[in-house]
Amino acid sequence: MIEELQLRVTLKEEERSDILVIKSAQALNIDKEDITGVKVLRKSIDARKAKIIFNYKVAVYIREMLPKTSDYKFDYKDVSKAKFIHIIGFGPAGMYAALRCIELGFKPIVLERGKNVQDRRRDLRAINQDHFVNEDSNYCFGEGGAGTYSDGKLYTRSLKRGDVRRIFENLVFHGATDQILVDAHPHIGTNKLPKVVQNIRETILKYGGEIHFETRVTDFIIKNNKLQAIQLLNGEEIPVNRVILATGHSARDIFYLLHKKEIALEAKSFAMGVRVEHPQHIIDTIQYHCEGHRHELLPAASYSLVQQVNDRGVYSFCMCPGGFIVPAATANGEVVVNGMSPSKRNNLFANSGIVVEIDVNRDLHKYEHFGALKGLEYQKNLERMAFTAGGRSQVAPAQRLTDFVEGKLSIDLNPSSYQPGLNSAPLHSLLPKLIGSSLRKGFQAFGQKMKGYYTAEANIVGVESRTSSPVCIPRNERLEHPQIQGLFPCGEGGGYAGGIVSAAMDGERCAEAAIVGL
Ligand SMILES: Cc1cc2nc3c(=O)[nH]c(=O)nc-3n(C[C@H](O)[C@H](O)[C@H](O)COP(=O)(O)OP(=O)(O)OC[C@H]3O[C@@H](n4cnc5c(N)ncnc54)[C@H](O)[C@@H]3O)c2cc1C
Repeated sequence: MIEELQLRVTLKEEERSDILVIKSAQALNIDKEDITGVKVLRKSIDARKAKIIFNYKVAVYIREMLPKTSDYKFDYKDVSKAKFIHIIGFGPAGMYAALRCIELGFKPIVLERGKNVQDRRRDLRAINQDHFVNEDSNYCFGEGGAGTYSDGKLYTRSLKRGDVRRIFENLVFHGATDQILVDAHPHIGTNKLPKVVQNIRETILKYGGEIHFETRVTDFIIKNNKLQAIQLLNGEEIPVNRVILATGHSARDIFYLLHKKEIALEAKSFAMGVRVEHPQHIIDTIQYHCEGHRHELLPAASYSLVQQVNDRGVYSFCMCPGGFIVPAATANGEVVVNGMSPSKRNNLFANSGIVVEIDVNRDLHKYEHFGALKGLEYQKNLERMAFTAGGRSQVAPAQRLTDFVEGKLSIDLNPSSYQPGLNSAPLHSLLPKLIGSSLRKGFQAFGQKMKGYYTAEANIVGVESRTSSPVCIPRNERLEHPQIQGLFPCGEGGGYAGGIVSAAMDGERCAEAAIVGL
């Protein structure tokens, strides 16, 4: 017999390894010995009050064996001789599009401008140490896309857009811990993601798909509104039938190319701001009501904050407890920051994007002449400003949080996890007014919501500019570009995803759409 239960466990009780069996036996009024196992279905921590509670949803197996593995099946077929679909980009959207093609009996041919996960590491080191950005291989470009050297947080709000559980099960199938199936806020960690990505690559190759790294697509050959071929950087032309375009929100050359070819694009609202970094113990103290050191059974604390400032949302984005701020630029001459954490989230700092909503219809009048690319140009300007203010390298402009709000240049800065280094800069006057003043009011409000958050011990680091795509590549109900037959805009670059899970789900949907009638 299997019984499902909700259990509440205190921090003290959590120290006992058999606590779930004891509590289940009590709740069901049965003998402990009759329980063959307890499977955790969901786990979350409620730290709203001083007494911290672990909430569990469990399946109790009574005189019945616990199943060893998940019953999810992925029916991959040999597609080496099957009809093919081209996929541009091997981020979460491209990877899941390729896997879905294989399940559906079609051969994915992936073209990825960046390098495989191993070779990519060298280029990340070059950004951090030599301040050199390889424009094809960086924190955004390369095997696994922007999702590989990330936090690997797997939250999504797009629950209606696909089967989230299927995406998680697939990550577990490819080597992610099955803890992600259970945690209320699952994450994989930047140290574990490359192996998962590599395993996905191996599945695709094993079943007859193709993946071509260091293969940048530079042109589309279109005749009679139908995509006929794609051109690569080396000049080679590849005839195509169906193309899933999953190049991500940083592939500006793709947006410029489509714009130049007068292929319809739309400007899209997005958000920009800075990354704030606190010592992790400050966030732990606030969230766990403790003094300095959190209990060893508690993970590094996180937060999620939102404030309306003059009808404009200011909110935390991609919060990385126990993490690092990373240089996420995709070209030299720009500074872009983002965050990642290792699976244990055991670094000394807590960082988060704090961003302001930019409404492309209301806020970017000076950029109107760029048409659909106005948001992109605005984003670029801010990234160039950050490059100059940092000192024309990957050193990022920064300010103590309280100095930023009070409008003072910082005499010195706090220690930071950002490897290329920080330069004190007057971000309060350098950021456009609509971002700067919203952020200042937002930070003050956050200080009210989380006592201790507004502190001189925190730095803000500029700029967090790539939260989502500033451009949308339109598609019709068949997920095909309304003007170009055979082109399926996909994932975050198309404007159809915002994060690893939603990009993966969109990849699956695009694969399902692209095979229709092939
Ligand atoms: C540092 C960092 C941390 C992040 N942390 C998280 C997180 O914790 N959780 C989360 O959900 N999201 C996170 N994100 C965002 C997440 O990574 C993206 O939302 C997601 O990767 C988008 O997937 P995608 O496949 O649509 O695009 P991308 O991942 O951007 O992939 C696009 C791919 O296309 C390739 N490409 C681009 N142009 C071309 C071309 N012309 N020819 C061939 N290939 C091309 C690129 O090299 C890239 O590999 C993070 C992002 C960064 C940068």
